[in-house]
Amino acid sequence: MRIEVVTIGDELLLGFTIDTNAAHLARALAAEGVEIERRTTCGDTAESIASAVGDALNRTGAVITTGGLGPTSDDLTKPSIAALFGRDMVLDEEHLEWMEERWRTRFQRPMPASNRQQAMLPAGARKLTNHHGSAPGILLEDDRGRWVAMLPGVPREMRGMLADTLLPLVRARLGSDRRVVRSKTLRTTGLGESFIADLVATIDGGIGDAGLAYLPNADGTDLRMTVRDATPDDADVRLSTAAGRLRGVIGDAVYGEDSTDLAAVVLDLCRAQGITVGVAESCTGGLLGARLTAIPGSSDVVRGGVIAYDNSVKIASLGVPEALLIEHGAVSEPVVRAMAAGGRRAARADAALAITGIAGPDGGTEAKPVGTVWIGLDMAGRVDARRYAMVGDRGEIRHRAAQAALEMLRRRLIAPA
Ligand code: AMP
Ligand code: MG
Repeated sequence: MRIEVVTIGDELLLGFTIDTNAAHLARALAAEGVEIERRTTCGDTAESIASAVGDALNRTGAVITTGGLGPTSDDLTKPSIAALFGRDMVLDEEHLEWMEERWRTRFQRPMPASNRQQAMLPAGARKLTNHHGSAPGILLEDDRGRWVAMLPGVPREMRGMLADTLLPLVRARLGSDRRVVRSKTLRTTGLGESFIADLVATIDGGIGDAGLAYLPNADGTDLRMTVRDATPDDADVRLSTAAGRLRGVIGDAVYGEDSTDLAAVVLDLCRAQGITVGVAESCTGGLLGARLTAIPGSSDVVRGGVIAYDNSVKIASLGVPEALLIEHGAVSEPVVRAMAAGGRRAARADAALAITGIAGPDGGTEAKPVGTVWIGLDMAGRVDARRYAMVGDRGEIRHRAAQAALEMLRRRLIAPA
C-alpha cells in the first residue's frame, strides 16, 4: 500500500509549529508495514488543501491528512475534501447530540454555536471516533476505492485516533502478508558512544541482521535497532535477539527500553526496596524533584527536598557548615556531601541526592569550568560523591546533572549489598 500524508496549517508553513504529526504518522505506519511515499504541508485555504490532497490522491489513491478539523473559520479540511469527492456537507445529528451532551456534562455550559460546524460531515463519510477531543476524524472513500482519512491537528488527539481507529483499518486492508519496519531502543546513560561501540565490536557475529544506530542526547546514548522488510512476528524475534546480544556486553548500563524515563526506573527500584527519597538541589533548581514527581505514583517514594540555590539556604536549610563553603566553594566535594546528608535529614528520607555545579554560561573558572558538577548520594548514612564534567548549554548541563544523579541512585540500588 502506498500512502501520502498532507499536514494542514498556516502555523506549520510559517514555522511556528513543528510538524510532529507527519513524523509520528511515518513511524507508526512503518511499524505496520506502510512507508509514507511523500509528505506535503499546505496552508489553511480551500484551494491549497484541495490541490495538495487532489494531487496526492491522484498519485497513490490513499491519503492521510491532519489539521483543520476544528470549529473555527480556518478549519477548512472537510468541505475542501468533500468538494474533491463531489459530496455535500450534511449535519450529523448523532454527533451534534454527543457534543452537546459532552459540553453539558464535562464543561457544565452550553456548547458554543461555532462547534456545530464539527458535526457537519461530507455525505457518505465514515466517522473515526475521537476519545480525546470533540472533532471526529473522517474517512471518505470513493467507488474506485480511493480514500482520504482526515485526522485532527492536536498531536495528542491525532495519535489517539490513529492508534484506536485508523491503524486497525489499515492493518485489515494489508491482510496477512505484510512486511514491516520495526525498531527497539535500549537506553543507556553515563557511557560515551565510542565506549559502547567498542563493547559492541566484541559481539561474536554482531547483532544479527538488525541495523544499529547510536543516538547520543542529553539523557545519554540510546541504541536503536531497526529491522526492515520482515513479517511482524519475525521482526519482533530479530529485535529481541539483537537486544539480548547488546545487553550481553553492555549489561547494567542499560536502564530501560524505548521511551522509558530513568526517573520511573529509579522510583520502581525504590518502591521495591521500600526506600524513600529526598533531594537537595543547587544548580538544577528543582529539576530533579520535578523529574521524579512527574511520574505518577511518585508520592510513595519521594518525600521532598530543598532548593538550596544560594549559599545562605545551603547553610540554613541543609546545615552545610559555612566554613566548608568558604574553604572549598559551593561546587566542591565536601559541600555536596554535606548537602546530601542535610537533604536526607530535611526530607526525613532513607536516601537523598544532592547536586551542585556551574551551569553557565558565566561563573566558570580555570579550576572549575562551566559544566563542573558535583553529585552526592547519602543512603542510610553512607555518602558517595562524584565530580562530572558536563557538556552543552545551560539547559543541557542542568538536564544532564539531574540524569546523572538519578543514575547514581539507580547504580546504588542495583549494586549487590
Ligand atoms: P487544527 O486541528 O488545525 O485546528 O490544529 C490544532 C492545533 O494542533 C494547532 O494549534 C497546532 O498547535 C497543532 N498542530 C496542527 N498540525 C500539527 C502538526 N502537523 N504537527 C504538530 N502539531 C500540529
Ligand atoms: Mg489549523
